[in-house]
Amino acid sequence: MKNYIYASMELYDQTNGIRGGGGLGVLAADMRRAADEADVALTLLTPFYPWEVHQKLENGQFSDYYVEIFPAEFGYERLGEAVVATAYDASVRLEVWQKVFGSTRILTVFEPDFGELYSDGGSSDHRLYQEVALGFGGWQALRYAEIEPTVLQLNETATFFCALAWLDDLVAGGKEFYAAVDYVRRHTLYTNHTLVQAAESEFTLEQFVRFVLPNLQCRSVQRWLVQQFVDGRAKLSGLTLELSGKRSGVSKLHARVAEYYDLNGDKVEFTPVTNGVDFDWWTEPRTLKMLKNGGVITETGLPGKEYAAKIAETLVSKDIEECKAAGKKQLYEMLEDRYGITGLDEKAVLFNFKRRFVDYKRPWLAFRDTERLARILKENNAYYFLAGRVHTGDDAMLDQLKKILVQVEENDELRSRVFYLADYDEKVAAALSAGCDIAVNNPIVGLEACGTSWEKDISNLQILVSTHDGGVADITPAVYLEIVGEREEDEVESLYQQMERAAKLAADPEARAEHLQQLMMAYLPTMSATRMVVEYLDLLGIKHDK
Ligand SMILES: *Cc1c(COP(=O)(O)O)cnc(C)c1O
Repeated sequence: MKNYIYASMELYDQTNGIRGGGGLGVLAADMRRAADEADVALTLLTPFYPWEVHQKLENGQFSDYYVEIFPAEFGYERLGEAVVATAYDASVRLEVWQKVFGSTRILTVFEPDFGELYSDGGSSDHRLYQEVALGFGGWQALRYAEIEPTVLQLNETATFFCALAWLDDLVAGGKEFYAAVDYVRRHTLYTNHTLVQAAESEFTLEQFVRFVLPNLQCRSVQRWLVQQFVDGRAKLSGLTLELSGKRSGVSKLHARVAEYYDLNGDKVEFTPVTNGVDFDWWTEPRTLKMLKNGGVITETGLPGKEYAAKIAETLVSKDIEECKAAGKKQLYEMLEDRYGITGLDEKAVLFNFKRRFVDYKRPWLAFRDTERLARILKENNAYYFLAGRVHTGDDAMLDQLKKILVQVEENDELRSRVFYLADYDEKVAAALSAGCDIAVNNPIVGLEACGTSWEKDISNLQILVSTHDGGVADITPAVYLEIVGEREEDEVESLYQQMERAAKLAADPEARAEHLQQLMMAYLPTMSATRMVVEYLDLLGIKHDK
């Protein structure tokens, strides 16, 4: 049995008790689910953050609050204790817990003072401690779970310490140092999600002396590590590149444009493996059933044989309308239960914009001309749902969001047609994917690594209005409703025009069916998380027969 270790500082899997921050964690969850469906022995190594951050909106004011959680509540079993060291405490005890699902498992470490996901800055002592704890503690946890690693995937550079722990173990076990480095490199894949190397976190040698070196058993590994520092500083990306012989980006465009240099100054090549989404995201079961029964996708989640022809036979207007009506019902129930929103029109056309509120994703784009937006929504009897969390501390974005909420409040039409959904999470994402008709995705072109929300939306039979970026740009020319324009005001105009076209399509069952067939034919392979797992196995040189 080949043991595939997948390390991630973030996991977004609420059913299993772990809530993430965004796409990186969603990817980790979908990797594990798809590996399970394809019967791949994958161990997901990730921290269990005992504090979960939530956001609430009351009387126009946002605030964060924390909820304490514990693995036992979610069916994990305790395996034992791992120990990591710092300069202050030679034995910090980490609890090791695991949960097994078919061929896969989540293996997790934490202690009561572990803190929350992304606490403090990216180059802070606490973040370094968390990363070291997953690296060295996680590697010890593998032993408790009786897992011999064969390949390692690092979901971003923050998991570098897993590769370092592996190297240290091999050398401690008697392997010659350079042979051990070579071995780790040949079996380690680094998956990059960050476009710009300058944005990567950097640590000082002094921090490494306090938090990292005490965990290394071997002098040669210590010496090698110290040598990687230039002027007393090192970036995790540089270190990660030294221990990973295989590198991937998360979409074709991203793999092409990510500009990284290794410590020799050579440009890094990334192999594109576009993020997919698992069929857990088909929360309205009718849609999944329709696609499986029609042979569009296989039981393991790959595109079926001759799937294009199957799509044309299966995705017919009557069934699409039924699926969307069921999804809408489910969505309206969630909106009532969770947000107290009632009295929505069953016949309305539903737009949604849902993702982390960060500048480059431009949640405010549709609100550039509120009169125009109001007219579009009114003329098409449409609602616009806006869901997403602002990062704690991003005051500029919080101001943007407050401004949008005021604009909505001051416009009679928008007040009854635009809804902001606070504390965005997976459940909100899934309900919006299943229930809405039209997804809006408008990152500044060149800045989205992949994005996966739009994949959840297409698989749940939504029309996509988007800029040509991230994984959307895997398929060229555009088969979705593309937002174009050199200047932002041109893009705004283009967005409104495409929203109008989308609303007309959504209201015409035959036209909608034809459009969705084209979308599904173009993106079905891209969207499949099982396809993604198979591509990773190929990159890692693991044979598979699914
Ligand atoms: C899918 C998802 C994301 C990732 O969305 P992007 O399109 O990659 O920005 C983030 N958060 C939640 C809750 C999600 O469900």
